[in-house]
Amino acid sequence: MSSVAVIGTGTVGSMALWRLAERGIPAVGFDAFAPGHDRGAAGGESRIFRTAYKEGPAYVPLLRAARGLWAELEESSGRRLLTPVGGVTLGPREHPKIRAVLASAHTHDLPVEVLTGEDALRRVPEHPLRDGEVMVVDREAGFIRPEPAVIAAATAAERAGARIARYTPVREVRPDATGVTVVTGDGEHRFTHAVLAPGPWAGTLLPDPMAGLVTTKAITSTWFPRRDDTLFEPDRCPIAIRVGEPAYSCFPSMDGVGVKVNLHVPWQDIASPESLHRSVPVNYLAQVAAAVAGTLPGLRPDPVRIATFCEAFTPDGHGLLGSYGPAGRTILATAFSGHGFKLAPVFGDIVADLVETGSTTRGIDHLAPNRPF
Ligand SMILES: Cc1cc2nc3c(=O)[nH]c(=O)nc-3n(C[C@H](O)[C@H](O)[C@H](O)COP(=O)(O)OP(=O)(O)OC[C@H]3O[C@@H](n4cnc5c(N)ncnc54)[C@H](O)[C@@H]3O)c2cc1C
Repeated sequence: MSSVAVIGTGTVGSMALWRLAERGIPAVGFDAFAPGHDRGAAGGESRIFRTAYKEGPAYVPLLRAARGLWAELEESSGRRLLTPVGGVTLGPREHPKIRAVLASAHTHDLPVEVLTGEDALRRVPEHPLRDGEVMVVDREAGFIRPEPAVIAAATAAERAGARIARYTPVREVRPDATGVTVVTGDGEHRFTHAVLAPGPWAGTLLPDPMAGLVTTKAITSTWFPRRDDTLFEPDRCPIAIRVGEPAYSCFPSMDGVGVKVNLHVPWQDIASPESLHRSVPVNYLAQVAAAVAGTLPGLRPDPVRIATFCEAFTPDGHGLLGSYGPAGRTILATAFSGHGFKLAPVFGDIVADLVETGSTTRGIDHLAPNRPF
């Protein structure tokens, strides 16, 4: 019988623990903090869900499976986690990312629409287009609330029999031919498998050479006040991704005050989450304020809230998901490179496949840890 240590009960680890426990596989989650904290990659109130995926059509079947599992988690927690308000990608008609969204939709026959001019403005008054721009509407998109989502998965896991060791950092993981030894401040613990889901701490927990491959970056979110309380309402305003110059993602207002804008700029490398500066350079703020002033007339261009989080990235922008090391005892589930939240439930389910049968029927070759970098 398998017994599994899940190291990291953040976004992906909490989902893996839930999916393992649902299958009756004994599992213990270890976290240096506790599910729902904002020191890693899961903070900041909202995450985008979308299916017409510019990162590649290979994700679309995974996104569809993730959507079903989000619904299952909502059902079991009794909480709304994914709000399906739709989503738009807007920018210059011939921009490669607009083309990539349309190609992904075309390959998988997704229900997208392309709007221009007055049609776009009537549908989404929050995001007026400039000359030569188009808006691609993804009706299957929406936003997820990250902190309740992680807590819901951890709670569902515990209810199904998993245990979570909170405030218990793992110092070392030693796989061998018959199992895995997990070392914490309390001593050594033995399991048949270990799932490594340390998110932005990947550089400190992954085995070499994977640890050296992953970089941790700081990502800043800024919230801007609305000029008009009828705009950016969370029950009808779609999530938006603007490509070109400026480039950012933008959410409906969750608290009725601020609208979150994440500017898409090259994010800064940091040595580890512990060295993350919560203060933000003034020139960054000037840059995001200029982007808001130039393209979002419904917002005042000076932020009322600023927060910085961190995330692990691979060189090709795709995560690491699969067995790694001796006898398939260690499963990596990390470094989702700024777009892993929406997929976390299916990543967790794939982890359970790998523990249960050693393989998965889901297409994850693009995430294989041993792919060439
Ligand atoms: C600001 C921002 C915006 C984003 N926007 C989106 C978006 O709109 N849509 C989307 O899909 N994705 C988005 N992402 C990406 C997504 O949030 C991440 O891919 C996802 O949260 C990563 O989850 P994780 O489980 O790898 O990391 P985390 O959620 O950080 O979990 C890692 C956990 O491991 C624990 N841990 C680490 N080391 C140890 C150890 N040694 N011992 C015990 N515990 C340990 C940590 O305490 C933590 O709880 C965004 C990311 C950021 C930062």
